Amino acid sequence: MDFIIDDEAREIANALKLEDSSLALVEFDRVLFAKEISGKMQFKRVADVKPVTPPYNLLNPNVLYIVSTYSKYWDSLSSEEKASAMLHQLYHITNFDGTIAHHNVVDFKEVIEQYGFRDPDG
Ligand SMILES: [Zn+2]
Repeated sequence: MDFIIDDEAREIANALKLEDSSLALVEFDRVLFAKEISGKMQFKRVADVKPVTPPYNLLNPNVLYIVSTYSKYWDSLSSEEKASAMLHQLYHITNFDGTIAHHNVVDFKEVIEQYGFRDPDG
């Protein structure tokens, strides 16, 4: 695994924040956007989000979550699919309290209905 900073993912997320009031609590300057570029991953995955848990939070206490995109699959998505996949990840962190919201939350269904995109985690 080999990660770089993903400025494109941050721009996509910033655009979504302006459109979607359910992302109001998400502090984007406390989210690190990274991209895996080696392609050496165990599972097919376009993106995911993880909380920064102890002791790793001590490295940079300002960073609460890391959103990762996986170049091998992410790069071939259309811009609409990237927006949908990113919105899905951001819905996992709408509470912005260090926890991950799970898929039984109603909003996830709305994303899938709106974009017709299946769960990028799945
Ligand atoms: Zn998910």
